[in-house]
Amino acid sequence: MDILPNQIIRLVQLGDEEALEGNTIWLCASCFTCVTRCPKGVDLSKIMEALRTILLRKGFDKVEIKKIDPDKLDDVPQQLLVCGLRKLTS
Ligand code: SF4
Repeated sequence: MDILPNQIIRLVQLGDEEALEGNTIWLCASCFTCVTRCPKGVDLSKIMEALRTILLRKGFDKVEIKKIDPDKLDDVPQQLLVCGLRKLTS
């Protein structure tokens, strides 16, 4: 993650669109570890999802399907591929 999760929260609080840049929001696995540990009850996984959704609705795709190596597609579990495409493409 190139921007730490706590920095994402601060950028969102400040209305700074830098929160939409970098890899952090795409790498968040929605594991809820931060959610269960946050003393303020901040649900960061929902914020990460909201930030991804903002970009996806603008037509930004993190993954270009045509650029995926066909040879690698044979090795990728189908469920992983479908989940990735749902999360990373509009
Ligand atoms: S939900 Fe998990 S992966 Fe996402 S920011 Fe929190 S701890 Fe990190």
